[in-house]
Amino acid sequence: MKTICKFLLLVLLASVTGQRTEARKPAEPRVKNVIFMIGDGMGLADITATAINRGCVPLQIERAHYVGLARTYSANNRVTDSAAAGTALATGHKTNNGHIGVDPDKKPLKSILEKAEENGLATGLVATHSVTNATPAAFIAHQPSRKMEEEIAADYLKTDIDLFIGGGRKMFTRREDGRDLTRELQEKGYTIAYTMDEVKAFERGKLGGLLYDTSVPTMAQGRGDYLPQATAKALEILGRNSPKGFFIMVEGSQIDKGGHGNDIRTIIDETTDFDNAVKVAYDYADRHPGTLVVVTADHETGGVTLPSGKPDFTLPDQGVKYTFSTKSHTATYVPVYAYGTGAMHFSRVLENTEIPQIMEQLLRLRK
Ligand SMILES: [Zn+2]
Repeated sequence: MKTICKFLLLVLLASVTGQRTEARKPAEPRVKNVIFMIGDGMGLADITATAINRGCVPLQIERAHYVGLARTYSANNRVTDSAAAGTALATGHKTNNGHIGVDPDKKPLKSILEKAEENGLATGLVATHSVTNATPAAFIAHQPSRKMEEEIAADYLKTDIDLFIGGGRKMFTRREDGRDLTRELQEKGYTIAYTMDEVKAFERGKLGGLLYDTSVPTMAQGRGDYLPQATAKALEILGRNSPKGFFIMVEGSQIDKGGHGNDIRTIIDETTDFDNAVKVAYDYADRHPGTLVVVTADHETGGVTLPSGKPDFTLPDQGVKYTFSTKSHTATYVPVYAYGTGAMHFSRVLENTEIPQIMEQLLRLRK
């Protein structure tokens, strides 16, 4: 009887001191997979224009559980280019415009993709441009200039990335130095795919998808559902090949082209396509707990404004007179949408460099 009383007293004490409450608190689930989606040049106005265009129907992106904002300036300019922004988002360090995966002194910076690889995670890159273009390049290459695309292509050989899908085949096969990097990739065990059918048929091992000689076509040029399909296939392969989890960066590369061209049609078409790929990623996270999806932009391009007016669905663009303020990038903050496990950590104003830093912590990557 005395023992029972002692036990009850201990239980009572524990609950008063909060120990029991502490024990009941569920631990935050572990982030195993990260899907990092970057809409190149995709500002808030581009997302709003896309929603207006479909009668103010929200985008898939807007299913986000948490939303934040990111500052995009580079180390040497209040307006970043895609190289410095890509480097910030890949490595967690600001650098000068034009630099790929190196600091302002041109010293290499390790990317989250490279760290994920070293920690035994599977890794991938998917883009609607050349895989040697600035944004994907920043995750895999270390070069002082974004223009050094042949050197960037050669940097793919220095990694063990599990898959990449995009354009830019020319940089691998028709090179100044005469090397055929597709052959060298095959010797390293990669399957090289030249068409989406070959990508879809791929089952196991490492995949180099070089589907176009230079850039991937725009939506207006007939790209179709390349990006959602490539994203779905990449997630299927990485999910299957990686018991420890994966990191992938998916880029909607051509939204930026619409901004530079002050062409609202291209912005809306490319943002819609990117949004379809975001749906694939969000749905994957729904089916695979432990998956975090973060969607952001590297910078805003074009500075489009959305003036007032009654919606008129009989007019092109619903009668909105879109006005652009520049043919270049701008300094405005960009949105950060987070979905799935760990999403709450992105719900504030962030430096763009903090985004990969938080992802690394959530994935518990050792340096
Ligand atoms: Zn641009």
